[in-house]
Amino acid sequence: MHQTYGIWINGSWEQTSRTMDVLDKYTQQKVTTIAVAEEQHITRMVECAQDALRKPFGSYDRYKVLSKAAELLVQRREQFAGVLVKEVGKPIRDSLGEVDRAAQTLLISAEEAKRIHGEGVPVEAAPGSENRMAFSIRVPVGIIAAITPFNVPLNLVCHKVGPALAAGNAVILKPSEVTPTVSLLLAELFAEAGLPSGRLNVATGFGPEIGAWLVANPLVRMFSFTGSVRVGEWLRQHAGVRKVALELGNNSANIVHKDCNLDQAVEMIATKAFNNAGQVCISVQRVFVHEKIKQEFLSKLIERTRRLIVGNPQEEKTDIGPMISLREAERVESWVREAVIEGASLAIGGKREGSVYYPTILTNVKPTMKVYSMEVFGPVVAIDTYSEENEVIAKVNDSDYGLQAGLFTSDLGFAMKAARELEVGGLIINDASAYRVDQMPYGGVKNSGTGKEGPSYAIEEMTEERLIVMNLV
Ligand code: NAD
Repeated sequence: MHQTYGIWINGSWEQTSRTMDVLDKYTQQKVTTIAVAEEQHITRMVECAQDALRKPFGSYDRYKVLSKAAELLVQRREQFAGVLVKEVGKPIRDSLGEVDRAAQTLLISAEEAKRIHGEGVPVEAAPGSENRMAFSIRVPVGIIAAITPFNVPLNLVCHKVGPALAAGNAVILKPSEVTPTVSLLLAELFAEAGLPSGRLNVATGFGPEIGAWLVANPLVRMFSFTGSVRVGEWLRQHAGVRKVALELGNNSANIVHKDCNLDQAVEMIATKAFNNAGQVCISVQRVFVHEKIKQEFLSKLIERTRRLIVGNPQEEKTDIGPMISLREAERVESWVREAVIEGASLAIGGKREGSVYYPTILTNVKPTMKVYSMEVFGPVVAIDTYSEENEVIAKVNDSDYGLQAGLFTSDLGFAMKAARELEVGGLIINDASAYRVDQMPYGGVKNSGTGKEGPSYAIEEMTEERLIVMNLV
């Protein structure tokens, strides 16, 4: 059924003069019409958020609202997952998995709302300060603009909204224009859970417009962004001295060492490289396999990949659905074609049907190829080989990105060396780079961004430390 949504402002819906359609990514039919926010709506959202911040909303109340929201989300699991299947094209099993994780993210945020604390500061240890005592408290940043991408549109929103509310802030959420509906449903759900009006506002519409209006408003004190490097850099350039947290891309490396449990490595790489059609920021992209096991690994990986079911995301059996748009599938197709022209060999895949791109494995790849050096953000794996530990560490580090990496090995010495020398935000040993649970610190180095998510870490970013010094006269 076709739905129409307004923007969510100060706890209620409002229509605007412009609208845009959202497509089912598998059928390409219109499923939803959303309102496009104008500058005046952003201005009013900021005013409402400012008003909301003046009203008391203590830690225990924040805990109760976030716990209730998590509970309601579990109850509406099928409804939210149904929207994800259509708007993202994410297979139903994975869509249900995303809703379950989002509920956990809210629950963890609720728990963290109870333990936000500062620390004692030993000022009395300074000469002349013997009569003083000091401690710090953590206070909310204020109004946070949360800007989110298309690929995990519910859980990544919860990773911003959950900690921001837990820490006592107010949020203006700008979800991706191609997957906006779960954010709107979430706003309504939060109101039902008892969230005071104005604490969460949702501005749907065009990124560059809304981004420019948010940046121009000095009352917005922080930008929490997940998305592409291009937009992240733009925000950093325009936010001035305000806080900016950036969760950006990656061309995730995974090392398959000669002593690893090969079947385990194959299973994890095959399932996590192509999950969500490879549109995951920690999706397996570059695989470095030790030359001694290359042939065995490759034939097992091809065999496992062949068994993945590609097709309609509504069906329980489907592993891989469409990409987010025809344009994106065509881009991936052109990158693969270009790699093959430059000498890569196609081990499996390389086929496109509309916006569905089949799981693809390339060998004989070179660092100069786009499928190797840039973020593919599609179901494509580039396989390279190595013989020495130092060589593979250098290859992994030869990247503009550094979000997470995977390492399959039973050699503790190599694992520890990799832990020290790989330039990444997270190293996953004996699982693929795509491993994530929601309480862990998550964030990258280099062009993968700055700042960490995971509710307790995001709360650090979304609060300021205020020092209190007492002169005990
Ligand atoms: P995108 O950068 O195109 O868009 C992200 C959001 O920014 C959208 O809501 C968009 O409307 C908005 N936007 C666009 N232009 C803007 C502007 N000028 N000012 C403010 N907002 C603007 O990214 P995408 O295509 O939706 O998502 C894919 C990217 O996201 C990939 O690079 C992927 O690696 C990254 N990603 C990173 C993580 C992570 O946690 N590190 C997670 C998921 C996705």
